[in-house]
Amino acid sequence: MAVPSIKPQTAPEPRSLTILGSTGSIGCNTLDLIERHPDDYRVVALTAYNSAEKLADQARRLRPELVVIGDERHYDDLKSALAGLEIEVAAGPQALIEAAMRPAEWVMAAIVGAAGLAPTLAAVRRGAMIALANKETLVCAGELMMAEVTRCGATLLPVDSEHNAIFQVLEQDRKEAIERLILTASGGPFREWSLAEMAEATPEQAVAHPNWEMGDKISVDSATMMNKGLELIEAHYLFAMPARQIDVLIHPQSVVHSMVAYRDGSVLAQMGHPDMRTPIAYTLAWPTRMEVPVERLDLVAVGHLSFEAPDPVRFPTLRIAREALGAGGGAPTVLNAANEVAVEGFLAGKLGFLDIAKVVESTLEAMPARPPGSIEDVWELDREARRLASGAAGLAEEN
Ligand code: NAD
Ligand code: MG
Repeated sequence: MAVPSIKPQTAPEPRSLTILGSTGSIGCNTLDLIERHPDDYRVVALTAYNSAEKLADQARRLRPELVVIGDERHYDDLKSALAGLEIEVAAGPQALIEAAMRPAEWVMAAIVGAAGLAPTLAAVRRGAMIALANKETLVCAGELMMAEVTRCGATLLPVDSEHNAIFQVLEQDRKEAIERLILTASGGPFREWSLAEMAEATPEQAVAHPNWEMGDKISVDSATMMNKGLELIEAHYLFAMPARQIDVLIHPQSVVHSMVAYRDGSVLAQMGHPDMRTPIAYTLAWPTRMEVPVERLDLVAVGHLSFEAPDPVRFPTLRIAREALGAGGGAPTVLNAANEVAVEGFLAGKLGFLDIAKVVESTLEAMPARPPGSIEDVWELDREARRLASGAAGLAEEN
């Protein structure tokens, strides 16, 4: 009888991973997952903007090769917190780019805002697998980013829960059969507020999201619903889908994370308890799935799922984003920059909640939407939009 040959069992190599923005909400959720699977991941670099203490603590636990702090004023603190350990420490915007360029198979792009563009692009250009949370990079430079992704053979794995849901149910080889993408939105904390109440909304109220715990900027974006506007643009670029085939539905329970409608009438949805660790895990373990200790979806406990159309009067940002995408050229770059300035102004108590949309719209009206032909053009548009938006918002300081 022939004896079957037994192959020696070798453990698979751990996946190497860099986390850009490791101290934020997405970054910390990413760390939570990889610390539960220590044999599966090896951390190459961690980066943050100014939370040196938190970054040092993460570095002591995960022992990356390199840690980078964006704000150079925190370099000394970080360096001394990691003294005696064999961890390289660097600071400043160029060092963030270098962190992204370090050879790591996977990069979690979780910096908030256009500040993430240069490092994310650096990871794209070396053809990495990119778990993309930083939606603003696609809003401010979508065409250029996607062209670089194709040119350099990089892969974008969407972390944003809606795009991750679509990615999970999108039949890649049957694209012509897709009729619509349907992005769901919770409606945010002000879903049932009147305009008069919204006019008085404070930053504390705006960041108190009913279903998700997130960083301040995206929480305010959810409250204005600009988040869904940014996501519409993100979906357009990620899935090469015309905006007219992308719908938005309010779904307050945040259980159905998004849907794809096919031409045979089928609608495929991805569901789950609202916890970002599920979509993050999908991008980290792709094309397999990892064990994740999130609360399991109990549809009986949820009881009922409801859906409604967004209100264009109280939430004009969706229309503004759709128009910016329709105008094309640099309009989405301007939209993103003006929104970042206005949200910062609101969080600093210098701008009313309803003024956020007004600042964005007036900045878009004031700027010709010339198409950016290069990343340098994107920066130039971004800077000009920030200057104009600061003026429109009556903010003393230029951002
Ligand atoms: P956050 O504010 O909690 O964290 C942002 C991270 O980026 C931090 O590590 C911070 O130090 C770093 N950072 C901030 N400014 C920087 C700069 N100028 N240079 C370098 N690093 C900088 O934000 P978050 O909620 O984790 O969101 C991160 C990204 O993921 C955003 O683009 C957001 O839209 C997207 N996203 C977040 C969630 C969520 O649940 N939090 C869901 C979907 C998408
Ligand atoms: Mg989202």
